Amino acid sequence: RNPDPRLPLKLLIAAPRGFCAGVDRAIEIVERALQKYGAPVYVRHEIVHNRYVVDSLKERGAIFVEELDEVPDDAPVVFSAHGVPKSVPAEAQRRNLLYVDATCPLVSKVHRQAERQIEKGQHILFIGHAGHPEVIGTMGQVPEGMITLVETVEDVANLPFTQDDDLSFLTQTTLSVDDTREMVEALQARYPQIVAPKAEDICYATSNRQAAVKSIAPSCDLVLVIGAPNSSNSLRLVEVAQRLGTDARLIQRASEIDPSWLEGVGTLGLTAGASAPEKLVREVVDRLSDWRVVEETPVVTTEENMVFKLPRQLTE
Ligand code: SF4
Repeated sequence: RNPDPRLPLKLLIAAPRGFCAGVDRAIEIVERALQKYGAPVYVRHEIVHNRYVVDSLKERGAIFVEELDEVPDDAPVVFSAHGVPKSVPAEAQRRNLLYVDATCPLVSKVHRQAERQIEKGQHILFIGHAGHPEVIGTMGQVPEGMITLVETVEDVANLPFTQDDDLSFLTQTTLSVDDTREMVEALQARYPQIVAPKAEDICYATSNRQAAVKSIAPSCDLVLVIGAPNSSNSLRLVEVAQRLGTDARLIQRASEIDPSWLEGVGTLGLTAGASAPEKLVREVVDRLSDWRVVEETPVVTTEENMVFKLPRQLTE
């Protein structure tokens, strides 16, 4: 049952949304590697968590694998934006593979901090979500047993360390700003001696996208977030809207929108996670226009102008 086509739909489109500088760079790395080395170029893990992006690169000759042992000796391989444990480039070197590291520079920054904290003799408490590739990558920067993952405030309460231990903490780059504040407060309450990272690890793109959703969600009856179910920053955007009491849904493509969702919706919010291309936002707007008279209003909370340099091996 389609909603009443005569009803206007006020569409608040959050900005910033969609691609961040790390995702732009990672995709360009695969594109340039295809140009420079020719297809196939192997990519270890989805270059960014978006099926549309992955499928477009597949069409151009990228082959996505989960582990390095699936890459033949004579093919180039790109490591995804999420970062990899140290064992991965080490194995690539051992096999003499031609590899390009598309790890986002903001993730690499956390990696270097982890190394420095270990050099100082600190045990690291890492705030993140178990199983996410970024977490696996960051935890794999330091020897096993030197870093402990904490996911919840309860985890903090159950930690075995004392106030005499040398401790520091780091975080995943794509966490909820609000949850992380709570986690850090819990850590600091239990371990007043804990050393904080020099600057916040949650990246600019994650915090800007969350702030943008916060600015529109209270005025919306429903918020749609374009992103993949395995995209941490996209899932956080859904939570941010829901916590403000607004119904919110994650969608990968416009085709997933059920027109019944729009029943009774006068104002709809729209945003996209850092790995979702703008093309998918336009696709959603077009789809909505099939059912309603869409009045589009961009709501800009911050201007972004971050650009990251490409690895030298692809620019020479
Ligand atoms: Fe880098 Fe942040 Fe984008 Fe992740 S979300 S790729 S850390 S800029």
